[in-house]
Amino acid sequence: MTERDEHDLLAVDAALELILAQVTPLTAEPVPLPESLGRYLASDLVARIDLPPFRASALDGFAVRHANTPGRLRIVGESAAGAPYDRPLTDGEAVLISTGAVVPDGADAIVPVEWVPDAGTEAITVREPVGYQNAIREAGSDVKQGAVTLTTGTCITPAHIGAAAALGLTSVPCSRLPGVSLLATGSELRDPGELLAPGQIYNSNTPMLHAALRTAGASVTLYQTAADTGRQHRQLLARALDHDVLISTGGVSMGGHDLVRSVMAELGVGELFWKVAMKPGKPLSFGVREHPDGRCTLVFGVPGNPVSALVCFALFVRPALAALQSATDPGPHYVAGTLAHSVRADPRRDQLIRVRRGRGGELEPLRGQQSHQLAELASSDGLARIRAGAGELEAGTVVDYLPLF
Ligand code: AMP
Ligand code: MG
Repeated sequence: MTERDEHDLLAVDAALELILAQVTPLTAEPVPLPESLGRYLASDLVARIDLPPFRASALDGFAVRHANTPGRLRIVGESAAGAPYDRPLTDGEAVLISTGAVVPDGADAIVPVEWVPDAGTEAITVREPVGYQNAIREAGSDVKQGAVTLTTGTCITPAHIGAAAALGLTSVPCSRLPGVSLLATGSELRDPGELLAPGQIYNSNTPMLHAALRTAGASVTLYQTAADTGRQHRQLLARALDHDVLISTGGVSMGGHDLVRSVMAELGVGELFWKVAMKPGKPLSFGVREHPDGRCTLVFGVPGNPVSALVCFALFVRPALAALQSATDPGPHYVAGTLAHSVRADPRRDQLIRVRRGRGGELEPLRGQQSHQLAELASSDGLARIRAGAGELEAGTVVDYLPLF
């Protein structure tokens, strides 16, 4: 891999394209409906029944023949939800009916109960003409038997679970969850709870990315932190390569102790790019390890600075995880936002600036924009993407905004 200089950095969108091109969708498995939230459908869901399965009333009222209205009609029985009236309705008749109950054969309209406040138990007087098909839900008016109800790659929401349950399904085919290994590098790192010696800091990337991975539907394996020695890197990275995705943090910059890329190369990882035209997150490295049995591991070497690590996760790792699960739209899911203040663009790199989002949707850049300022990141709502370019973006400029979790 040749080194990229400042003028030759890989564009953010090009980097994402290279990553997604390496993705082979994971196999499918049946997932019980209640556990399918946030999973991705691995095949189309075809309706086995009509919804509603029968002609149903949309209101509480009386099933009638519209041609008999206005007029006085004899109440001949009741159709309650789950307990249909079992004879056909004829001229001059009305059947008391509840919402969701079967509309008897022969009836073609529902008179709302509010129209007949003086209804007795024997008869009703309908004073206005009721329209043909009034308040009748036709069988299949929501879903027709045989229709594709949910398509492959849908990320399952509570509404999708409701739709699948309405069709009588107890499980849905979903892509298997990607197995992700997570490993921090750096001799200065200690786990929270340990005592810090001079020069040491706590490892914040592992807990942070672990949490981020859980929101992205990954099955995470945590590895011990690798000290900055070739031996530790080799030992731990070799084991961590046995997953669908490996994420290491730190050790991808230019320093003499940045060993991740060279050790990855020794371990057979083919690097596809290093350094992206972005700020923070420039030193991101991405490669693929092909295993003898044909499996592949996507390898992300994300920079050690915590803000850079989370930005790289949001822009690249998360979409890759969604694509592995066959997502129709793997993201990142930017929405439009408006800058509350002017921001100076960087001539060569896209900036992902931490912003707070006001009630009116305006994006307020936070003061601390350096890549170690994790507390500022924690008080932000998301990232505004200021694309590389010349000059100053005025307040009011519409930019891409990426909500963070
Ligand atoms: P590196 O990319 O290894 O050069 O690290 C860049 C900066 O991020 C250094 O200040 C590191 O101490 C810091 N850093 C690296 N890994 C972590 C981590 N897991 N948690 C917190 N800070 C880290
Ligand atoms: Mg380091």
